[in-house]
Amino acid sequence: MVDVSALRARVSGPVLVAGDDCYAEESLGWILNFTHTPDVVVGAASAHDVVETVKFAAANDLPVRVQASGHGSHVAITDGVLITTKRLDTLEIDPSTHIATIGAGLNWDAVIAEAGKHGLAPITGSSGTVGAIGFMLGGGMGPLVNSHGFGSDWVREFEVVLANGELVTASVDERPDLFWALRGGKGGLGVVTSAKVELAELSSLYGGSLTFDAENIDAALHTWVDYLHTADPGVTTSAVVLRVPDLPFVPEPIRGRTLLSIRFAYPGDAATGEKLAAPLRSAAPVYIDALGEIAASAIGTVHNDPADPTVGWVSGRMLTGIDQDFANTVLGFAGADKQVPFVAVEIRAFGAAQATDVPGGSAVGGRGAKGSLNVVGVPNPELFAAVIPGAAATFFAAVAPWISPTNNVNFASGFTTAAEYHGAWPPAIFERLTEVKKKYDPNGVFVYGVN
Ligand SMILES: Cc1cc2nc3c(=O)[nH]c(=O)nc-3n(C[C@H](O)[C@H](O)[C@H](O)COP(=O)(O)OP(=O)(O)OC[C@H]3O[C@@H](n4cnc5c(N)ncnc54)[C@H](O)[C@@H]3O)c2cc1C
Repeated sequence: MVDVSALRARVSGPVLVAGDDCYAEESLGWILNFTHTPDVVVGAASAHDVVETVKFAAANDLPVRVQASGHGSHVAITDGVLITTKRLDTLEIDPSTHIATIGAGLNWDAVIAEAGKHGLAPITGSSGTVGAIGFMLGGGMGPLVNSHGFGSDWVREFEVVLANGELVTASVDERPDLFWALRGGKGGLGVVTSAKVELAELSSLYGGSLTFDAENIDAALHTWVDYLHTADPGVTTSAVVLRVPDLPFVPEPIRGRTLLSIRFAYPGDAATGEKLAAPLRSAAPVYIDALGEIAASAIGTVHNDPADPTVGWVSGRMLTGIDQDFANTVLGFAGADKQVPFVAVEIRAFGAAQATDVPGGSAVGGRGAKGSLNVVGVPNPELFAAVIPGAAATFFAAVAPWISPTNNVNFASGFTTAAEYHGAWPPAIFERLTEVKKKYDPNGVFVYGVN
């Protein structure tokens, strides 16, 4: 067992080893599939705690991993030091510059709520319970990706602890190579303690979803695919085939049904939004119309992702295009009359603002993609090892002509092979990321990628 007494004396947050009270609780992530058993878990309460912990880990030859909300837990952690960031929960918003300084432990919900008080909004993902920093380190594509690009495009500065324990700033002016890498290059580069992020001026949007019953899934999906050809670039849409479990806690109108939900977000006035959504609304009789003017702080209702920790299996890919042949292939696999072990097959469409890189560039993967495809398995861990991955592999093989060779790390949802890991970035970006990693973490203190 590692002797942590010296570390305990130097940090203010908890330093826990197996057998300590709260060790399991501190290590637990939002994805409940895994029981993490690191040698040490440190609940960092300040940037200083992170500095001391990284120095301790490096001196003891222990690998370092980071967990904020745990939405990105894809494999059990069984060694080294796990730094949890949830206590780094400070948030400052300067309404005059629109800059939010976001502590590494904050989920998007906290930032959305505070920014909303100033008529501002962060560029978040579909779920407010995802960690802001983890999301942006992977790029981050959400309900406003077409109008506002990647979440990482809005980062202006990271405060980060390097492998040598130094607390530094990465921005366009200071360590621009590290700043480039952190905007989409994800893990293994350092521990971010906070980020300065520009907020968009946005108090309301036309957003929500149109849900179609099983008999109208084909018509609605085909209409959506046609719609994409001429869609306003400010509109972000996605379509998801949902197989809603027949369980008592599920609201009656959707319980036990197979449905298609088209999500819509337009960050403009309601009259224009309604006009832009009209072709989708008339695609087929709408079963549930939950689309209208909403506060920007209600952005999380557009996708209606689960908020509570859960077991889960998800895998995603980037798409090179979305056409009617693709729609037919999806319906042939996951249409209303099929049996598949998935609660959701989601197609997101993008390619507008997100296609333009930031000045100076960034490491994000998937910038050139036209959409994404995600499959979410039924939440039954007994099926996670073979049944669901097998069905997903069959599906991904069927839609191979539309799958981009480059993925995005947030959508890949973990890696089982080195090829999958490399494929989360274009080859030239992966090569440059490797160089940056060698420069800032020459001894491999930070672990990320394939276990
Ligand atoms: C329900 C759900 C919805 C999602 N929706 C979207 C979406 O719409 N768009 C999208 O792009 N992604 C989405 N994701 C993926 C999500 O953005 C990634 O899984 C992201 O990594 C989660 O970050 P986290 O901090 O919440 O999770 P964690 O598991 O805590 O962190 C994930 C990884 O991020 C890194 N990390 C986190 N914090 C730090 C830090 N302070 N310093 C250094 N590294 C750090 C670490 O490598 C860590 O392993 C979704 C995931 C889920 C489960």
